[in-house]
Amino acid sequence: MRIGVLRVQGAFAEHEALLRGVGVEVVPVRLPEHLDGLAGLVLPGGESTTMRKLIDRWGLRAPILELARAGAPVLGTCAGMILLAQDIVDGDEPVFPLLDISVKRNAFGRQLDSFEADLDVSVLGDTPVHAIFIRAPVVERSGDEVDVLARLEDGSVVAVRQRNVIATAFHPELSGEVRFHRLLTTMAGAYEEPAEGSGRRPHPTRRGLEASR
Ligand code: GLN
Repeated sequence: MRIGVLRVQGAFAEHEALLRGVGVEVVPVRLPEHLDGLAGLVLPGGESTTMRKLIDRWGLRAPILELARAGAPVLGTCAGMILLAQDIVDGDEPVFPLLDISVKRNAFGRQLDSFEADLDVSVLGDTPVHAIFIRAPVVERSGDEVDVLARLEDGSVVAVRQRNVIATAFHPELSGEVRFHRLLTTMAGAYEEPAEGSGRRPHPTRRGLEASR
């Protein structure tokens, strides 16, 4: 199974190491052709303004949207969550408007620039998730289609899932928390082997490439 990690800027190396640890082939994504045949994609943390510029400069916006809309699972962490939001509070236009959420960037203010917390994430089992937040966003609003996966003690929403897209405001890859990546690979397995009669067709990019061979 091949899982891509967006490698334009930010904390991609830790995601790549974690994914290798769960036994998948990691594909660093810098160009549109690197997306071909992927079973899933990780959008790491970093600086979302810089990432947005590089995504557009390297022509990655449309093909990543296409891959996600075809049903490939996507995991976004921190800046990755910002890239996946339909609405960025007082901010720029969305990049990949796949999650019906409003996110506020750098939501925890200067004194809380970074902090750690243990979170209950019931979809991942009973053991709490040790979460590291670094200049993290928060989900201020989430639509009906969005499952809230985790909240801070004060109720702030910090992890969500909508269909094939998962996003966390924190960095699971920095605390060695592997269960989000395992969930991604489980979803990627289901994407690669759709149920009989589901009517899913091969990914359009793949079909296009096959036709051009
Ligand atoms: N503060 C960053 C942003 O707004 C996100 C921080 C992170 O990814 N660690 O893009």
